[in-house]
Amino acid sequence: MVFDQDIKKLITGNHKFKTKFFDSKNTIFNELVTFGQKPKIMLVTCSDSRIDPAMIFNCQPGELFVVRNIANLIPPYEDNDTYHGTSAALEFGTCFLDIKHVIILGHTNCGGIRSLIENTNQVLDKKNYSFVAKWMDLAKPAYDQVMAKYLHATLEEKIILCEQYALINSLQNLYSFPWIKRHIDNHDLSLHAWYFDLTTGIIHAHDQLKNHWITL
Ligand SMILES: [Zn+2]
Repeated sequence: MVFDQDIKKLITGNHKFKTKFFDSKNTIFNELVTFGQKPKIMLVTCSDSRIDPAMIFNCQPGELFVVRNIANLIPPYEDNDTYHGTSAALEFGTCFLDIKHVIILGHTNCGGIRSLIENTNQVLDKKNYSFVAKWMDLAKPAYDQVMAKYLHATLEEKIILCEQYALINSLQNLYSFPWIKRHIDNHDLSLHAWYFDLTTGIIHAHDQLKNHWITL
């Protein structure tokens, strides 16, 4: 097989990783394989290549159960016979693992949200890009709220507001899942909406009681 430079870089990286984590006994993976994964935190975050949850939170393998999608959106609960990738991950994390916290981690400079606000992006062309365009419909309530309340804000302000409103909307959708609601009622699960600033590394958390953002 012939690999190009991009793939060769991955293979070299894997060899370094294997040397560091597998070429001695009692490694962290040895323990995780023997005893299984027991993450307490589930993260729903963006597919954006600049977002690396383990790096952002200085976590080790086994600590974060992660699902990623375009613009870290959560669909509302739907009881129909189709494929629900993000919902399936949520069900597995909260029903089959002992997850205590689900954190939706949004971020600044999100291409998905920008495409909504700019409204000129070909990504949203449903004729040619039906999956992304349909998926981004989930952020439409956030878009509508921003346009209704902040019509005269600048483009960049609208993007930040829409990123944050989409997080709050996704958080509300999380509450629509019956098993999530059950865990919350049993006081063994908490939900969080966090917003990561790619330019500073700072994280802002949404205070659900006061409906504002605080810096962590
Ligand atoms: Zn994003």
